[in-house]
Amino acid sequence: MDPKTLSYHSDSQVEVKPAVPAGPEHTPRMEVLKGIAVSQGIVIGRIFVLDADARHIGRHHVHRDAVDTELSRLDLALRKSREELATVFKDAETVMGVDAAKVFLFHQGMLGDKSLIGPIRAMISSECVSAEHAVSRVLGEWSERFARMPDTAFRSKVNDLEDLQERILTHLTGERRCQLAQVPQGTVVIARDLTPTQAISFDRSRVLAFATDLGGKTSHTAIVARALGIPAVVGCQTLTRLAMDASSIIIDGDRGVVILEPNEETLDDYKAAIKKRQRARVTVGEDARLPAYTLDKVPVQVLGNIEFPQEIPSLLDEGGEGVGLYRTEFLYLASAKEPTEDDHFAAYERCVTLLDGKPLVIRTVDLGADKYTQERTEVPERNPFLGLRSIRYCLRSIPMFKTQLRAILRASALGPIKVMFPLITTTNELRHAKLIVHDVMEDLEEEGIPFDRNLKLGMMVEVPAAALMADTFAREVDFFSIGTNDLIQYTLAVDRTNERVAGMYNPLNPAVLRLVRDTIRAARRHEIDVSLCGEAGGDPEIALLLIGMGLRTLSVSAPAIAPLKRLIRGVSLTQCERLARKAFSFDSDVQVAAYLRDRARKIVPEAFDGRSVDDADPGSGRDPI
Ligand code: PEP
Ligand code: MG
Repeated sequence: MDPKTLSYHSDSQVEVKPAVPAGPEHTPRMEVLKGIAVSQGIVIGRIFVLDADARHIGRHHVHRDAVDTELSRLDLALRKSREELATVFKDAETVMGVDAAKVFLFHQGMLGDKSLIGPIRAMISSECVSAEHAVSRVLGEWSERFARMPDTAFRSKVNDLEDLQERILTHLTGERRCQLAQVPQGTVVIARDLTPTQAISFDRSRVLAFATDLGGKTSHTAIVARALGIPAVVGCQTLTRLAMDASSIIIDGDRGVVILEPNEETLDDYKAAIKKRQRARVTVGEDARLPAYTLDKVPVQVLGNIEFPQEIPSLLDEGGEGVGLYRTEFLYLASAKEPTEDDHFAAYERCVTLLDGKPLVIRTVDLGADKYTQERTEVPERNPFLGLRSIRYCLRSIPMFKTQLRAILRASALGPIKVMFPLITTTNELRHAKLIVHDVMEDLEEEGIPFDRNLKLGMMVEVPAAALMADTFAREVDFFSIGTNDLIQYTLAVDRTNERVAGMYNPLNPAVLRLVRDTIRAARRHEIDVSLCGEAGGDPEIALLLIGMGLRTLSVSAPAIAPLKRLIRGVSLTQCERLARKAFSFDSDVQVAAYLRDRARKIVPEAFDGRSVDDADPGSGRDPI
């Protein structure tokens, strides 16, 4: 399945009018909800509210003589679940690639986890209850415990547990619940939460998108949505309370916005935006693969961000000139076990082959904070974003780090690869990480394994300490990649995953802009490459500003590539520089935003027609990432 063709959906399949087919007391009223954007694309459709009704499995006692029978029934249900998951994995692999499909191997792994399954067996034996009751009690209690954890990493595993519970119960009761079988075309599924199995089983000819009350950017359901190209917004909190079955809805998966019962004006705006994208999509291909130059002939390189290798073909179709950020931690997040050196190598080799000579920037694993391995979710931290995450974790897990580096180095013999370290905060960390790379190089040399001896080593600049010390760091790396997603959160002390402070998360805050500008300047002074791979680079207004600040390489998500290249072709560097100079004269994000909004539309009006930002924006801030 080609995610490119799935990213944006025409509203032609479903005729949505602002008037809502509702009861006599219902007055349609537009409601705009802000959630977390997890999978891009805009759709207009009709709501199907998926009930969260858990199965009611009462406490059912069995005679002591029947305990063995219950244990055998459990074993049979577990075996059938394992076999079924093997099939689901195979099917998923064909539609979304092996790495994302490993979500289902993760579920298989849970079936073999003694700490989950052992207590089910123990409860059947000690309390003489039915297998169904023991499964729903034990897994239900685990889900509740995880849901109460303050840590998002735990909460993101709740729907995996619920998914597994539902699968085992289906095999025990023989009753498959499938509310989604008969949804009409043009459906947008609304649910309190969704499991990865529900997401992959959507009939893609009928289900256009989904949105949920719960969920996070790195949950397995979000991974499945992105891999399938289904637009999705999660973490909308009150959505199921407000959503009316069969009423109209807009899902803006680019900005994490859900609009219930949109008014005529908003519908028209979004219809125009969808049409514009469709038109643009038709013309993508002609000039998409050509480099982008400004009107005064300055080249700006546009690369893409990926989580899985199979995203590369659509990234290239959109005009991506390579991969500027490969988030390799997704190899860990989708899988039940730690990837081996060969797992890493296979993924990198696939990237190099698909890129066919185009550059690939591999970021070493960025685990921790909201991206945990299964094992690490068992040891929660009080402040995970300030905790043992990212390069800090790698430097405490040297065998794991070396495994990845060996695979990257081996792959570097096959094509142009660069490596960068995330979250570098101190020079000691950087030096330690480089030392380990050189250790691994020596090992490979001794073993006679080929690799690129001139492999370029870079770092992400995503904490203020790194930006402030950019001059020092620039002497020790080959390139910088500015990670605004984290840089914003650490500069402004705003958790990027917390929707309650989403309005304060603003890339246009002058403090953030100064750190970005100073990093670019330091890189230029020291003649090293500098790019930006945060989501902010895909925002047309901000992109103009960044080019004006001296940036010549941007790495953005695939759908943002083609519009960005068109934008670059429609402006001159002189205009961007003037825009940047003026933007730096303001002392508040509100002023910067107002100025940019006005100027950008005057410089390149064609890039901003269609959807109006203000109409649907519920808060002053931009999207949390
Ligand atoms: C960033 O922080 O800007 C970034 C690109 O990395 P991630 O979003 O994976 O933290
Ligand atoms: Mg980051």
